[in-house]
Amino acid sequence: MNNVVEYLCITTEKFPDKIAFLDTGGGISFSDLNQNAKKIATVIIKKTGGITNIPIAVKMKKSKECIVAFMGIAYSGNYYCPIDISMPSSRVELIFETLKPAVVIEQRENQSSYNENSIIYDECMDKQYDDELINKQLNKVLSVDPLYVLFTSGSTGVPKGVVVSHASVIDYTEWLSHTFGFNENNVFGNQAPLYFDNSILDIYSSLKNGSQVYFIDEKLFSFPKQLMMTLKENGVNTIFWVPSALISISDSGILHENPELPQLEQVLFCGEVMPTKQLMKWRKRYTNTFFANLYGPTEITDVCSYYVVDRDYADDEILPIGKACKNTEILIINEKNKIANIDELGEIFVRGIGVAKGYYRNKDRTQSAFVQNPLHDDYIDICYKTGDIAKVNQEGNIIYVGRKDNQIKFQGHRIELGEIEAVTMCVNNVKRVCAIYVETRKKIVLFIVLNSESEIISEKEIYKSIKTKLPKYMLPSEIIIKDELPLNVNGKIDRVKLREVANEKYI
Ligand code: AMP
Repeated sequence: MNNVVEYLCITTEKFPDKIAFLDTGGGISFSDLNQNAKKIATVIIKKTGGITNIPIAVKMKKSKECIVAFMGIAYSGNYYCPIDISMPSSRVELIFETLKPAVVIEQRENQSSYNENSIIYDECMDKQYDDELINKQLNKVLSVDPLYVLFTSGSTGVPKGVVVSHASVIDYTEWLSHTFGFNENNVFGNQAPLYFDNSILDIYSSLKNGSQVYFIDEKLFSFPKQLMMTLKENGVNTIFWVPSALISISDSGILHENPELPQLEQVLFCGEVMPTKQLMKWRKRYTNTFFANLYGPTEITDVCSYYVVDRDYADDEILPIGKACKNTEILIINEKNKIANIDELGEIFVRGIGVAKGYYRNKDRTQSAFVQNPLHDDYIDICYKTGDIAKVNQEGNIIYVGRKDNQIKFQGHRIELGEIEAVTMCVNNVKRVCAIYVETRKKIVLFIVLNSESEIISEKEIYKSIKTKLPKYMLPSEIIIKDELPLNVNGKIDRVKLREVANEKYI
């Protein structure tokens, strides 16, 4: 298999009328998904003259139609890049400056600006598709060609586009289906936005196995009771969420009073640390449910290790991220560039087919994160250097300890504090800035020094300015203007000190 559309073709033959993806606007069957995707593909091929391997942005509201667009792009022999329509336009522009999409697919209702690159989704649906044209394209695609580019926060202020191939997604999907026994009876309750790598699990497990995906309305995650009712009403039996989403339910206290969910068979989570105290609330409530902690960055196609929760954990115990997935190796590399001993800290390096093709049009960042296997120089053997610090325990399970840099996870979102700082530095009259994350209170605090000789600017004005450039989840809870920031012995901003100041504020 060299293109993920083969999953869709095979599944359509097996389950043509089965509903594949479902959102608040209704469902789409595998057969309609397949046909509509081919319509999109035909329009793209005609518009681009049949070139392959070009980037196509999908700037649409999260919906089943996005999956049609993704598959249409794959059918056309090109790769997709999901763009969040609620993202500030200046950030979309930054992404487009890097991506330079050959085509942008939009829906009529959310169309921002029509130009010669735009394809209007709704208009494609009135067209016929051309199998001959599509097959010609498919013959040109290799499994190592890109399937998608997902943009993630970049420390320099410019988001980084992670390029992932068909081969990586196919390898991952095969592993998932085998390990978790996914089949046509799974109904996934999707939480992950489509621009976030966790959505890959839901989408491709369904396309391969004929499962169903229900796109949960994002707003429901603030209303735990309604959320649980929605899961029940839609027969959701499998969820793969960020821990923050699970915690919003277990913390609300509704797990006990709440409707039975007898069908909840599998609860998988990934993306950030899952506190054992919260997990145990779920485990005690759903005693027959299977729970697993999955770990991995976007740069290795979503997941590279997993741990099946097979016992109760005390509040102060750390849940392991387990062992590497099949066809993947995780190396914990110590400061001497050697494999760390048991219980010795090191950085996680990952090798295998899931390792991405690097950052889009960003050679420097690619070369610093996608590196030669530090254990040998015999042939090219690229590993992704995660920046995650971990150790292996006596049982051979990996324990995640933290980050080497200023990347954080906030409500499941991956954020480089450097991106917030870079954007704030562009505000008129800001001289120095340092973003600190107060882990215990889940708050981002921004410390700022202003140019004394220029016009005074208030915290409110700074907030208003950065709001036009950053996604909502990156905005600070508080901005503190100071006369100066503490420096460490190297003359750099003393983050440790500022973290203490921020922590004290929230005690
Ligand atoms: P993303 O690229 O958004 O998937 O974020 C990847 C990062 O999230 C990893 O490098 C880790 O720092 C963190 N992460 C992912 N899964 C887990 C997990 N199960 N436990 C702790 N941290 C995690």
